Amino acid sequence: MKEAGRVSAKALRKVGELVRPGISTLELDRFAENLIRMEGGTPAFLGYNGFKGSICASVNDQIVHGIPSADVILREGDIISIDVGAIIGGWVGDNAATFAVGQIAPETQRLMDVTLQSMWAGIDAARPGNTLGDIGYAVQHVAEGAGFGVVREYVGHGVGRKMHEDPNVPNFGKKGRGTRLKEGMVLAIEPMINAGTHRTKGPFADGWAVYTADNKPSAHFERTIAITKAGPLVLTAE
Ligand code: MG
Repeated sequence: MKEAGRVSAKALRKVGELVRPGISTLELDRFAENLIRMEGGTPAFLGYNGFKGSICASVNDQIVHGIPSADVILREGDIISIDVGAIIGGWVGDNAATFAVGQIAPETQRLMDVTLQSMWAGIDAARPGNTLGDIGYAVQHVAEGAGFGVVREYVGHGVGRKMHEDPNVPNFGKKGRGTRLKEGMVLAIEPMINAGTHRTKGPFADGWAVYTADNKPSAHFERTIAITKAGPLVLTAE
C-alpha cells in the first residue's frame, strides 16, 4: 500500500504545482492520469461508479466530487480541492489537498490552514486502542473551534483492495465512541470543512459535484494512513 500511496502523493503534489490562473481542470486531470500510468498505476477514480475523471476537481463552493472539465478555467483568487488516487498491484492509495489559485482572501487561507490542521489532529488520534469517535472528535474540535462547519454527509473510509471500505470515518464524533482502532487498519482521514454552514446541497444535473448550502468556500485534505503500534503511519507519502 506504500507504493500505491507514494504514486497517489506524487500525483497530488505534481498536479498541485500546475495550479494557476488560466489552466482548466481537465488539463489537471489529464496530467494526473498520465503521471499515474507512467508510474505503473491505474487511476483509482476513473470509471468509479461511472466517474469520468482521474481526479476530483472541486472549485470554491464545491466541496467534493467536481468533474474535471475543459470549461472550468481556474481564476485568480479561486481555491481548488484535488482528490486523486492510484491503484498499484491491486492496492489503493487515496489523498487530497486544497490549493490556492494565485492570491486568495486571508479568510480563505485561514480555512485551508485550519482544515489541514484538523486533518493532522485526526491522524494523530488514529492509534491502537482509540476509537473512530476519537478521530472525529479531534477533527471537529479543531474545525469548529476556528468557527468553521464540518461536513456531515461525506466522510473518510477504510482503504485496501477497494477505495471505499468499511469503516466510515466521520469528521465529527464523541471521544471514546464507535469502533475501536486496531493495529493494521488502513483509513483515509479526510476532513471537508466549510467556511460557513456545514450543510451541503447537490449533486445537481451532473450527478456528482456537491456544494456548500450557502455557497461559501470549502476545503478538503486527505491522507491514507495505517494504524501501527508506533502510531499513525502516512502511506500517501513520497
Ligand atoms: Mg477518500
